[in-house]
Amino acid sequence: MEMKEQASNNLNETSTRTEQEGVSRRAFMGVATMAAAGLATESALAQTRSESLAGRTGDNASDPGPENTVLLRTNPNSNLPPFTDRGNPHTIWYSFDLTPKRVESGGWTHQVTSREIPRSQDLAGVNMRLTAGSFRELHWHLADEWAIMLTGKARITVMQPDGKMFIDDVGPGDLWYFPAGFPHSIQGLEGDGCEFLLVFDQGDFSEDDTFLLSEFLVHTPPEIIEKNTGWKRQEWDQLPPTELYIFEAPLPGALEADKRFLGNFLETENHYTFKMASMKPTSQSATGEVRIVDSSNFTIAKNIAAAMVTLKPGAIREMHWHPNTSEWQYWIKGQGRMTVVFTEGRARTMDFRANDVGFVPSMAGHYIENTGTEDLVFLEMFKSPRYQDVSLNQWIARMPDKMAAAHLKLPVSTIRSAPQNKTPVLPR
Ligand code: MN
Ligand code: MN
Repeated sequence: MEMKEQASNNLNETSTRTEQEGVSRRAFMGVATMAAAGLATESALAQTRSESLAGRTGDNASDPGPENTVLLRTNPNSNLPPFTDRGNPHTIWYSFDLTPKRVESGGWTHQVTSREIPRSQDLAGVNMRLTAGSFRELHWHLADEWAIMLTGKARITVMQPDGKMFIDDVGPGDLWYFPAGFPHSIQGLEGDGCEFLLVFDQGDFSEDDTFLLSEFLVHTPPEIIEKNTGWKRQEWDQLPPTELYIFEAPLPGALEADKRFLGNFLETENHYTFKMASMKPTSQSATGEVRIVDSSNFTIAKNIAAAMVTLKPGAIREMHWHPNTSEWQYWIKGQGRMTVVFTEGRARTMDFRANDVGFVPSMAGHYIENTGTEDLVFLEMFKSPRYQDVSLNQWIARMPDKMAAAHLKLPVSTIRSAPQNKTPVLPR
């Protein structure tokens, strides 16, 4: 408070002097104004709990100027955060629904990467649609690919360096995992094709930056193609002259027929698909459940771990953090809010809905609350072989009485009335 007054006094003083002393003082005034603005920001950060509460009374939060009422209606916490928020830490929210779709004949794709969320360096996401029969052109890339089918069905193939090919059909809630460099395909199946989410273990991944079958062939001299494959120049001329990327194609035959075609070259030991939505919950309470899939149960998923969380209306994902990596979220269904508490006492709360992406920097404390009237379902994604979290309640429960009381300034009986164990979804 004192600092703020001092800052504005200095500013007034400088302005007055500038009027009196002319042009030579103007440059100085610019600097002084900036310094004063800086001090004012520091002062806002130094608000006490009662000061920020006082700001919420009376007319203080009124906003008589222009408003984007459509955004305000759906983002009450993002715009007017709880009084416990502080400062303006970096981005924790983006939505696929604000990113441009690349639409091709056969479907579309769009992505949320470190271009949208600059601090998200570990993972990036792509949301893609393939109509019935349409392919994402055969390709490979630098990053590992983790995926979940959101709606519809697809046939996927992936070839291992030893020449064995894995092939399977996936439906809603099913996962696939393609290690970096393994060539693979995705094709929409009968009915309405499909829509899915891809997660890559590279924050600046771009779906436009993949190695394509078409480009490898068309950018190799025809005489080399002839030596390599036996295909003559007139055949080279018939190859696609540019990338196919996403394109329409006839529906495939039966899965069993494709497997029979592969015969001994069908991969049967490594499983590149996993049924996540229908697995038994890893933990469960009356108000929600959590399913964890990482390299301990989906062996092939060496670099990306996932938790699918379901919260009933009003329930929270308990206060916790992750000691190994940042968290990249995809919101599948419902609505909620999340607060992330950073270092230096900074905290940010924002609202989230289906098709939004959330981001929590490594180690930062957070919770998620279902603020809607239907179940909230979201994914917590990590660039890690194993899922790990630290529960605040569990930590407090393990503190000896005197240690806990000294820090929390509460009677021991109150402290011990909190849940004594890790409870991913509360209330129990
Ligand atoms: Mn891919
Ligand atoms: Mn988390």
